[in-house]
Amino acid sequence: MVFVSILPQKYFAEKIGGDLVDVSVMVEPGANPHTYEPKPKQMVALAKANIYFAIGVPFETTWLEKIAATNPKMLVVHTDAGIKKIPMKTHHQESELEHDHHSIKDPHVWLSPPLVITLAGNMLKAFLRVDPAHRSIYEKNYNSFMKELVVLDGEIRATFKGKGKDVEFMVFHPAWGYFAQAYGLEQIPIELEGKQPKAAQLQSLIQYAKERGIKVIFAQPQFSRQAAQAIADSIGGQIVFADPLAADWERNLRQVASKFKAALK
Ligand code: ZN
Repeated sequence: MVFVSILPQKYFAEKIGGDLVDVSVMVEPGANPHTYEPKPKQMVALAKANIYFAIGVPFETTWLEKIAATNPKMLVVHTDAGIKKIPMKTHHQESELEHDHHSIKDPHVWLSPPLVITLAGNMLKAFLRVDPAHRSIYEKNYNSFMKELVVLDGEIRATFKGKGKDVEFMVFHPAWGYFAQAYGLEQIPIELEGKQPKAAQLQSLIQYAKERGIKVIFAQPQFSRQAAQAIADSIGGQIVFADPLAADWERNLRQVASKFKAALK
């Protein structure tokens, strides 16, 4: 049995492990990986796990050591190893806050197909180490997953081709930085330092959106959509629901890309 921190990792682990793996997810559906606290029954279940796939989401900062300590035989793998993290972005006009925030690295690496190639490579290595007898199966699964990723990446690239440089979108919780980086988009966060914007900040965001012709506001189920809706209403734009933690990772990215493209028209 293997443990992962978030649902999209279950998708990756099952792609590579196929029928050989049984995957448990730490952050339960609907819960927030920034603030999650493992349940006692999950800490117990860790005793049966062979591998824990960490990915660098914030709750791991507090919990990963405790998780590792519950089962010393379990291999703890930092699947985000080798990924160059970008700073979490705040709204450009909040220069003081932005300065502080630059030290915080963006954890949302799983939303960029090119970075998932790195995540999957680290997972493959761990499977081969823990279960070398099934090497050929893991490698075969991994290779077909890589092919799927290349196709997906090409499709999303084609979706945004010809859209011009620096297409901006606003998003309540800035989870799409690596996605934006991969496809030549720019995300403007509404949330500031993990908090709802105040009235004055909301006004400045609305002003900015109007000036820049921003028409798309991303929102996600784990966070309030109130601020996103207020901005969308004021600019005549629309909310695009984009879940960074969907279980069907690939289908979700396709849907997000096509909803986003539709909203840009
Ligand atoms: Zn997040």
